Amino acid sequence: MVKKTLWVAVIGAGPAGYYTAEALSGGDDDVKVDIIDALPTPYGLIRAGVAPDHQSIKNVARRYEATNVRDNVRFVGNLALGRDLTLKELMELYDAVVLATGAPKDRPLGIDGEDLKGVIGSAAFVGWYNSHPGFTDLNPDLNVPSVAVIGNGNVAVDVARVLAKTAEEMETSDLADHAAEKIHSSPIKDIYLLGRRGPLEASFTPKELGELANLHNCVALVDPEQLPSNWEDETLTGAQKKNMTILRSMSDNTPDMKPIRLHIAFYRRPMAILGQEVACGLRLEHTIVTVDGQCEGTGESEVIPAGVIVPCIGYRTTPIQDVPYNEDRGHFDNVDGKIFDGLYCAGWAKRGPSGTIGTNKPDGQEIAQKILSEVTPSGKKGRAGLDAIIKKRDLQIVTFQDWKKIDAAEQEAAEGPSPRAKIADVETMVRIAKS
Ligand code: NAP
Repeated sequence: MVKKTLWVAVIGAGPAGYYTAEALSGGDDDVKVDIIDALPTPYGLIRAGVAPDHQSIKNVARRYEATNVRDNVRFVGNLALGRDLTLKELMELYDAVVLATGAPKDRPLGIDGEDLKGVIGSAAFVGWYNSHPGFTDLNPDLNVPSVAVIGNGNVAVDVARVLAKTAEEMETSDLADHAAEKIHSSPIKDIYLLGRRGPLEASFTPKELGELANLHNCVALVDPEQLPSNWEDETLTGAQKKNMTILRSMSDNTPDMKPIRLHIAFYRRPMAILGQEVACGLRLEHTIVTVDGQCEGTGESEVIPAGVIVPCIGYRTTPIQDVPYNEDRGHFDNVDGKIFDGLYCAGWAKRGPSGTIGTNKPDGQEIAQKILSEVTPSGKKGRAGLDAIIKKRDLQIVTFQDWKKIDAAEQEAAEGPSPRAKIADVETMVRIAKS
């Protein structure tokens, strides 16, 4: 008896998508996986989210390459769900569809002034300096003396660091040219990194925080009064202890040590963004952390000047019509990755924007196991059906081999020790891919 193929479409070619595809395709050749992405480039957040000066983290893409060259896996780039085809069409063609679409939307702050020019959410700001085609036109006005970065997570630390580093410090990065031009000619002298809770509640990690202590042109300043006295307490986690040691050493710094000052301030909750059309400052309420770990306003407030304000306060998955969505948490409604029969989700689209890249590995494996154990091949058309749609609609998809041409062109165009000069324009990418 001829064995039927189990056809799976994974939507989103980021870490969650690749770990799922890797686990699905690793055993049985009769499981065939198409990894579909709206962009012509694979690797999602590895390419457009991980900071441009964190090249060692980006090296995980090599692992995903091994999945791409498997006979039972295909990368289909430049094919967007919603724009080029519908979820219903995909579900008719594939036995299972996995939404690994990440969380590309900024969570709103929900305060006055949020819509002013100069307020740029981290999804847009990070996408801009990372050459994401959706944000090349962002054109932020960095001709300002001070910037506020809201949040105490690793994204906030990334943004503060990329703004503070010199051109020389970014030499080995793949920072977008348009961003390098603006950042390295900007007169920024003060960067505020603002946490609404205290140093012990911060979610940045010691390695990332430590990088802020060693910037060439920028001194990190911390008010020692904001640091806990019990910093060697046994009840603290290893990460908390390391963070406290770093913050404590920063608290000895003085503003005159370097040309740019990074003010790391805790217990400051954003209340309103000030300005007429363009942001010029931020009103912050002072807070305390209550016994249940929440922050509570003291009623005291202050205003800090800031011409650019980058809220780095978390992300939301983009909803898809007819797919249940958890509004509070900002991801698809699911039970252990299952949305309903035939439809699954993985990564941030499943659990929200948390964890490291590696967190997506067990997550992807779990979804793959679930699919392999509960979905049986039903003779669906799979790839042939998708190719028929692509042909009929005359869509210009980008395959893995096509992507390798874009990859080579970017590496060839790199200057000095930079690994690549990223192309941010979809048309150019597709032209190179088809050359
Ligand atoms: P995150 O770690 O959840 O941090 C979000 C920050 O925003 C928190 O400090 C949070 O404060 C604050 N916040 C939320 N709502 C706020 C509000 N209304 N006003 C003021 N502050 C508010 O998220 P993330 O930094 O976006 O990172 C997402 C994930 O990617 C994390 O797991 C992160 O570790 C990971 N990541 C890792 C790296 C790396 O490994 N190098 C780099 C980037 C990102 P509360 O804690 O008080 O809610």
